[in-house]
Amino acid sequence: MLDEKLEPIYADVLRRNPGEVEFHQAVHEVLDSLGAVVAKHPDYAEGALIERICEPERQIIFRVPWVDDRGQVQINRGFRVQFNSALGPFKGGLRFHPSVFLGTIKFLGFEQTFKNALTGMPIGGGKGGSDFDPKGRSDNEIMRFCQSFMTELYRHLGEYTDVPAGDIGVGQREIGYMFGQYKRMTNRYESGVLTGKGLTWGGSRVRTEATGYGAVYFVERMLARRNQSFDGKRVIVSGAGNVAIYTIAKVQQLGGRVVACSDSEGYVVEENGIDLAVLREIKERKRGRIADYAKARGAGATFVANGRVWDVPADVAMPSATQNELNGQDARTLLKNGVKAVGEGANMPCTPEAVRAFLDSGILFAPGKAANAGGVATSALEMQQNASRDSWSFEATEARLAKIMHSIHDDCARTAEEYGAPDNYVLGANVAGFIRVAEAMRALGVI
Ligand code: GLU
Repeated sequence: MLDEKLEPIYADVLRRNPGEVEFHQAVHEVLDSLGAVVAKHPDYAEGALIERICEPERQIIFRVPWVDDRGQVQINRGFRVQFNSALGPFKGGLRFHPSVFLGTIKFLGFEQTFKNALTGMPIGGGKGGSDFDPKGRSDNEIMRFCQSFMTELYRHLGEYTDVPAGDIGVGQREIGYMFGQYKRMTNRYESGVLTGKGLTWGGSRVRTEATGYGAVYFVERMLARRNQSFDGKRVIVSGAGNVAIYTIAKVQQLGGRVVACSDSEGYVVEENGIDLAVLREIKERKRGRIADYAKARGAGATFVANGRVWDVPADVAMPSATQNELNGQDARTLLKNGVKAVGEGANMPCTPEAVRAFLDSGILFAPGKAANAGGVATSALEMQQNASRDSWSFEATEARLAKIMHSIHDDCARTAEEYGAPDNYVLGANVAGFIRVAEAMRALGVI
């Protein structure tokens, strides 16, 4: 049940955004946490501040026509939801996946607003993407799609306006094609307009690794509060994309053993630990599947087609694939098998029922908007380097990332404590993020 001041706000979100269930879910979770805030500080419920936070500043939907390798014209739909720019230019990734529709981008943009606020850096929240399916597309098709996408989007971007990056289906290759088209259309080498760039053309060291590394730093800090560490822990990671790969890398560096990872077709279990070099070769270079990885590894690896990776017993689980990939039943399975900590590397991977189960059980649970903020935080570091025409070393950049993650962790923990629910990082993240955005919005007036 939501607070009585917040219930009508939620009803309005439902009415205005029909069918956008993930957006409803993301808003409900935040409003649920804000009950404690409006009880303590009723002024936050005034001036339609919360209503404004739930309504994107601008939503752009556009046609993306392109020609495939057979000469056929294809049409996709492009989106950019510029959610909130109280703290800085809109900032957030682009997702290319066939499931994408306005509701997906709205939920991601809403989450991004609080996540970006938690980093303490001057970035607002936004998200974009397309229902384009990159799977099986040639390099030339990807390039033509990206060019067409940017041909419309460029007019809405700018280093002081809106700065996209990658997300599912968008990595350095796609950012390159989009940056190239932006540069051509504007006749400006405006490095700070996109992040996730390659190192030779304005990118930042550690950006590729940042989301996964950051999530592990967050969970490491959380474990440390209970005098535990990753050393010797059994870990499962869902997904096999950018977040999963660098989560595995950092867990291994810290002495943990990652025994399973997955993709949309199934999962692989390997008791001796996932071989990161082979996984990277198959995923990053060959753009292959987890089944290919399992085949390459031979007898020691078992591929379970269509199975649930959460059935594999583990001390720590890091859901790093996509939204709502871990449900209430999965949570109960993990708990039964003795999981001690769960860290969300993806955006909203646990369903509300799963989150509830974890919080009720008293295990450590790190919500995505805090735990996976390392990616966007390092994007902000990339913007800093671009603005000063500088390029930092790997060590210096990673040290900044670690410091940011620790401070996000401590902020969430402190806020949770202040609101009487120590260890409830969901409450801590939502409240700490909200207060930053709300304070700036109040200062800027009704705009
Ligand atoms: N898509 C990433 C996220 O979910 C990164 C966004 C960015 O770097 O702007 O936070």
